[in-house]
Amino acid sequence: MARALDHAARYRDSVPDRHILGQLGLAEARARFLTPLPDQGQPAAQVIDRMVADGDAGLVQFASPRFFGFVTGGSDPTGVAADILVSAWGQNTANTGQTATVGTMERAVCDWVISLLGLPDEAGAGIVTGGTVANTTAVMVARNALLRAHGWDADAQGLFGAPEIQVIVGDEAHSSVFGALRYAGLGAERVHRAPVDGNGTIDAEGFARLIAGLQGPILVILQAGHINSGGFDPFATIIPVAHDHDAWVHVDGAFGLWLAAVPELADRLAGVDQADSWGVDLHKWLNAPYDAGMVIVRKRADLVQAMSAKASYLPGFSETWDPSDSVMELSRRARGVPSYAILRSLGRDGVREMVRRHCRLACYGAEKLARIDGVQVMNDITANQVAIRVGKGASGDEATRAVLAKVQENGRVFPSHGVWKGRQIIRVSISNHKTQAGDIDLLVAEIADAWQSVRGGNNA
Ligand SMILES: *Cc1c(COP(=O)(O)O)cnc(C)c1O
Repeated sequence: MARALDHAARYRDSVPDRHILGQLGLAEARARFLTPLPDQGQPAAQVIDRMVADGDAGLVQFASPRFFGFVTGGSDPTGVAADILVSAWGQNTANTGQTATVGTMERAVCDWVISLLGLPDEAGAGIVTGGTVANTTAVMVARNALLRAHGWDADAQGLFGAPEIQVIVGDEAHSSVFGALRYAGLGAERVHRAPVDGNGTIDAEGFARLIAGLQGPILVILQAGHINSGGFDPFATIIPVAHDHDAWVHVDGAFGLWLAAVPELADRLAGVDQADSWGVDLHKWLNAPYDAGMVIVRKRADLVQAMSAKASYLPGFSETWDPSDSVMELSRRARGVPSYAILRSLGRDGVREMVRRHCRLACYGAEKLARIDGVQVMNDITANQVAIRVGKGASGDEATRAVLAKVQENGRVFPSHGVWKGRQIIRVSISNHKTQAGDIDLLVAEIADAWQSVRGGNNA
């Protein structure tokens, strides 16, 4: 263990000086790791040293303050330190009766995050592996509650013969939402897609027209934080309309829900607290080490009834608080504990400062990028995401790809690719706890240089 700690600390110190991408090809990785299982064991210290010697070059610097790909947290070292304790303690965190220490720390994380995000105090929450599972859990809870309200017990009878649930999602909902619908047995292709505006967020009038034509139980899935634009659906207008139709409203807020923690930014989420359930990541904007997210449900009883293996049989769950009551796993690691440490180390002010800084840096970066001749910022900057492209039309797609490839190959900063409105884009996401203006300056310079050299070729 001490040896692993030593390797770990040395790795983290080296992150800023490394090429951001892994430098070990898949073929070589297979040759090194995909061997037959040896008959004879090896001393533990040798195994650890060998893993590092063979694997080090293949590590990707997700923890770098200049990793701008996808939406990626930087595995805050305080959380990593707590995660080491979680592994060493080896607590099977199913119930707080047995594992009072870590179970209660997880409960604190649930309470604190609900409070930071301005969600209802009485809501129930479970700590899951990430946004996808948070969305999936919420869709299952919504499904059961909607069917119960229509006289159908899905816990007992399953879905065959149940009243049909109509599902509305925004036309640019995150892919994980469609995964959630598949996993929950509601189907990804039978959804009604609400029209969206130029920032990818739902058009409230189009939504109202759509829902007016639907009968029976309705599930509405909204988004706080569009993956390309960072945009927010207009919760304050849509949610009351949805509730007039007795719909269940779920909000996929994987990263965007964190804006609610910052008073001067929270207006972008106005009305979001009126929803029935929310999914949010801990490993994105809170920078918890992978993997952690949270599902939050307004009526805790709905969550527990759908998720607890014992809820259907035992009354009185409302008096207890057990981690396994709110998630699919029974045996589980205390994956909320790293977030406990991060939240304690940051405090409410620290979380606010971080989210505020990232949103400011997104505006700062977008302004600088827009000043480069031929670079186009594609989105309204409402959060921490910046979508850009270079050039025009189909040749612009090619040039955008070429610029991104060059920047990524250089390895000093890492924005990622995307396709939006049928066009190739470069996406910059600012969510690493250490990112500062200097990192953005470097990103802008790298993009400008790459564009200059692509343009110098024949892509202009
Ligand atoms: C990242 C993301 C998800 C999925 O979260 P995971 O933690 O990767 O499972 C869902 N929705 C949005 C908007 C996201 O950005």
